[in-house]
Amino acid sequence: MKKIKTDFLIVGSGLYGCVIAERISSILKKKVIILEKRNHIGGNCYSEVDKNTGIEYHKYGTHIFHTSIKAVWDYLKDFTKFNSYRHQVLTKYKSKTYQLPINLETINSFFGKNFSPSQARDFVTRQTKKFYKNNYNNFEEKALSQIGEKLYKAFIKYYTFKQWGKDPKNLPPSIFNRLPLRFNYNEDYYKNPFIQGIPLDGYTSIFKRLTESSKIEVIYNFNYEYENNFKVKYLTIYTGPLDKLLKNKFGKLEWRSLGFKKEVINSEDYQGTSVINYPEIKFNYTRIHEPRHLHPERKYGKKTLIIKEYPKVNNSEPYYPINNSENKERHAMYKNYLIKNKNKKIIFGGRLADYAYYDMDMTISAALNKFNIIKKIFK
Ligand code: UDP
Repeated sequence: MKKIKTDFLIVGSGLYGCVIAERISSILKKKVIILEKRNHIGGNCYSEVDKNTGIEYHKYGTHIFHTSIKAVWDYLKDFTKFNSYRHQVLTKYKSKTYQLPINLETINSFFGKNFSPSQARDFVTRQTKKFYKNNYNNFEEKALSQIGEKLYKAFIKYYTFKQWGKDPKNLPPSIFNRLPLRFNYNEDYYKNPFIQGIPLDGYTSIFKRLTESSKIEVIYNFNYEYENNFKVKYLTIYTGPLDKLLKNKFGKLEWRSLGFKKEVINSEDYQGTSVINYPEIKFNYTRIHEPRHLHPERKYGKKTLIIKEYPKVNNSEPYYPINNSENKERHAMYKNYLIKNKNKKIIFGGRLADYAYYDMDMTISAALNKFNIIKKIFK
């Protein structure tokens, strides 16, 4: 293969890679080649329009942008405007629909009560007290100490088991911390983000703008391997999983993966909201997405699109790291190995390479921070 010359090489066209590429091209004025193994840009944020219904959907699961990090918003606002969508999630248990995260409405409706906030807090405390510990070793211990057995069994235990393919006793408590618990009627899924919404013209447009410079070239359908013949003047920034990069030298990292089934429905509105969760074990999907609700500002036609989400474990598409101690140790071995081999001129980052449960804003923040380090070295 003939050598391709570039100043910087970036492997992966997700948020991390595209933000760094944009910064390198616009601030350092250097040439960047991005290698993408899929046939499209944007990693798992990619959105496209469904041909049957004209509805824009997120190919790899519903993505809601939300952040309280000012630096991220200051950066991103030059690349997109957001609509006014605010994320709410419902969950269906035994044919009845409840609000999620668990709030006062969920508690009252589930237990057939009409508690005030303080009564609900006392009621839940009576059920959780016996599970209190100084340190919570796993997801289940943490969840029981927060919401007690009944709510846990209905809404959390089997959903988590389905989603992660593991007993919640073998998952880290940090995953449960993502869900707020509220003793008021606040139905927002996220805790007070400073900004929240869906990009007005979709996620893919953000990526097109991030990479529109003539200094950036994206090469699709390209599976990067260490041996590939690129002449890179400064650095390679690798954003994929580290085990793949090093041919599973220290064993495979486990990922939670997802599969999706699309269906066109002959009705304007199937479920009245963008996401409903299915926490019961009898359904082998975890959620149903209805993407038309993500864009209330758009006029869509008389058909709707629904997408069922099926969890898969150890599928070839990595989505979520399974951050238990074995995987963390394995990831540290890869990381240390790469850091010691500095002569390879390779650095890494992003959700896959860091093996971290980053939201989109955390990924952008990590990319901006990494660029600041790169800038100091190469300016
Ligand atoms: N979870 C649950 N029931 C639900 C929703 C979430 O048990 O109805 C648990 C599950 O373990 C999940 C975690 O809470 O992995 C975090 O949920 P989040 O909505 O943040 O997951 P994501 O949207 O990132 O897949």
